[in-house]
Parts: sequence; C-alpha cells; structure tokens
Amino acid sequence: MRTAVVAVGKEILTGRTLNSNLRTIALKLKSIGIDVNRSYVIDDLKKEFKTVLDFMDEDLIFFTGGLGPTVDDITRETVIDYFQVDTFMDPAVLDKIKYYFDRAEVEMKDTNNKQALFPVDSIKLDNELGTAPGVYFKTGGKRIILLPGPPHEMIPMLNQVIDIIKDELDINLISRGYKLVGTGESSMENNLKGFYGVHPKVNVAPYANVGEIKYIFTSKDTDALDRCMKDFYNKFEEFIYGDLEDTLQGVVVEMLKRQNKIIALAESCTGGMLASTITGVSGCSQVFKEGLVVYSNEAKMKYLNVPEDILKEHGAVSPEVVHAMADRLAERTSADVSVAISGIAGPTGGTDEKPVGLVYFGIRHHGRTTVYRKVFNGDRDMVRYRAVIFALNQVRKELLLDEIDA
Ligand code: ATP
Ligand code: MG
Repeated sequence: MRTAVVAVGKEILTGRTLNSNLRTIALKLKSIGIDVNRSYVIDDLKKEFKTVLDFMDEDLIFFTGGLGPTVDDITRETVIDYFQVDTFMDPAVLDKIKYYFDRAEVEMKDTNNKQALFPVDSIKLDNELGTAPGVYFKTGGKRIILLPGPPHEMIPMLNQVIDIIKDELDINLISRGYKLVGTGESSMENNLKGFYGVHPKVNVAPYANVGEIKYIFTSKDTDALDRCMKDFYNKFEEFIYGDLEDTLQGVVVEMLKRQNKIIALAESCTGGMLASTITGVSGCSQVFKEGLVVYSNEAKMKYLNVPEDILKEHGAVSPEVVHAMADRLAERTSADVSVAISGIAGPTGGTDEKPVGLVYFGIRHHGRTTVYRKVFNGDRDMVRYRAVIFALNQVRKELLLDEIDA
C-alpha cells in the first residue's frame, strides 16, 4: 500500500505551525507496518487540492487541517467534491455541533452545517474535543481520511483510523512499550547491542524526547513480544518508570498517594515549573499542598530562613544552599518529601566554576537530605525542563525504595 499525508494550511507553509501531524501520523502508521511514501503541504485553496489530488497515485491518503467551521476551512467539501461521491448531511452530527455551540453559549452559524457533510458509506470519526468530525471513505480503490488540524483533536481520531485500517487489512500486530528516564538514547543503543538479534520477531523502536525515551515493541507473536519486553525490563529496570500511557509526574503523584505522603517544593531556577508540572496531574491536591518560588537571595532568606552567611559564602547555586532550602522547607511545611532546586539556567550568569546549566537539588525524605549536582545541556528552557525531569525522577527513586522495602 502506498501512503501519502497532506497537511493543509497557510500557517504551515509560512512556518508559523510546525507540521507535527506528519510526524504523528507517520509514526503511528509505522507501528502497524505501513510506511508513508510521500507528503505534501498545501495552501487552503481549491486549485491546490486539485493539483495535488490529480498528481497523487497513493491509495491511502490522509488530509489534516481545514475541517473547521470558518470560510477558509475547505478541505471537507473540496476533497469530497473532487471524488464526486454521493453525500448526505448527518443529523446526529448537526445536533452535536448545535449542542457544542449551545454549551459554549455561542450562536451557531450556517457555515457550521458543512461539518456534517459525509460521503455515503463513509465512516464518521468522532471528535470529542472539537466540533469537526473526521471522515474515512473509500472511492475507486483509494482510502481517504480527513482529520482536523489541531493535534490534540487529531490524535484520538487517528487512533480510530488505525483501528479501522488494522481491521480492514487484517493487521494483527500488537504494540506495547515502556517509558524511560535518566538515560540517553546513545547509551541505551550501546547497551542494546546484541539485544535485537535475540528477538528477531519483535520490532523495537526508540523515540527520544527531551529528558525521556520511549521504547515501542511491535510483533505479531504475543509470546515473542512478552519475552522481549521482559528481557528489556530486566536490563533497564532502573530507568523504566512506566508504560506508554504513563507520565513521570503522574507516576510520582500515584506513588505519593499510595504511600500517603505530601510533597513540598522550593524552586529557584525552575520558577514554579515543577509545581506546574505536578499540578497538571488531576487529583494531585491529595499530595501537593504548597510550593514556593524563591528566586532571589532575599526570598530564600525571607521565606525559608536560609542563613545569609551561607548564601554569601557559597552562593545561591550551591550544595549548602539547596540543603538548607530543603531542610527549612520540610520544617515549615511538615511535608514528607521536600524538594529544593537552585541553578543557573543561562544563557548568562555562568562562570568557569559554576557553568550555565549547573543545577543543585536538595531532596529531603525520611529526615535525611540528599544533594545532587547536575550540569544540563541546552538553552534556558531546556535546562529548566531537564531540571524538572531530574527532580521528579529523583523523587520517584526515593519513593521506590519504600515500595521495595514494603
Ligand atoms: P479548527 O476547527 O481548529 O479550525 P481545522 O481542522 O480547520 O480546525 P486548521 O484551521 O487547519 O484546522 O488548523 C488549526 C490549528 O491546528 C492550526 O492553527 C495549528 O495550530 C494546528 N495544525 C494545523 N495543521 C497542523 C499540522 N500539520 N501539524 C501540527 N499542527 C497543525
Ligand atoms: Mg480551521
């Protein structure tokens, strides 16, 4: 099967939006053994659709973008019109769109009706997060899929498409994975030498992200998949924090809940990013009550009583200061786990002795404070982000010890 992905929209051509939908779709298709052969980015103009559709000889074609209600959203009617298939208006979709607008207390315009247009015999792809439903239809031996542009809407609908394709093409690949933190892709690949050869029936693919890596295992053979994943787990247990649905912060919040513990934070260079990451987890209020952003030396003294002489002697970015921050935070909040972070996010402010990217962490747990020193690469945001991931992972490791003991 030859596959193409067409991204629609001026904002992609002008570079304002990165075409991440191509990447998402290509990776997802790859996981069921389908390669994308070509991709196009086109302006949302009728003639562009015609040009590209005339040219394409692929038999599985994805469009993303331009499914919305506004006048520049023309993908749906243009593509359906091109193939000259019979259509109908889906009353259930019309109702849903109307309900969506009622709820938002916005008046529904006539232009929204076009979102209920479907080819006869097509499959409707539900859009839980927006008004524009997607479409899957077959015509002249081709499979055509229309998906909305916003990734958070597109991804769940893509999963529906993948299920349909797997079903129709009788693809019974099973795919599972692990998420890892605290290791890098090159060191993993080094340790995986020889591993692939032992598990020939399983496709093992790494997907590196900032601060973490996903490994996805795909096979037709359940036993081979289980064996491979078990082998992998035994090798890399210390880095594996969960499976594909997990997030590091979600895992940490779950562990805190399980252990009935409260976490408190005192952040300097991360400026609340760790607190923000934790509060992104629904139900975190059970384990997270307070976090301080103590950016200046004055704030560190005012809110945490960090002694001025320690700050003067060692500087704010020092093992002594994060130690004091974590200790004082624990006293003030009676939290079970207290995390203090102080570092130099850059790009300015670094010295030979204290380079940009240097971050100290103080983690107090069971009445004992441990200090960590790390130097992270990357720009300011990257350093801060990596610091958040590192802190979360150290908390995870601390908590893990108690689960093993128990
Ligand atoms: P909406 O109802 O939001 O208008 P739509 O299906 O009409 O949805 P577009 O108007 O084309 O989609 O794009 C909406 C937004 O979706 C864009 O501003 C952009 O943020 C995102 N988006 C569109 N195409 C892509 C793409 N190929 N990759 C990543 N994001 C995209
Ligand atoms: Mg739009």
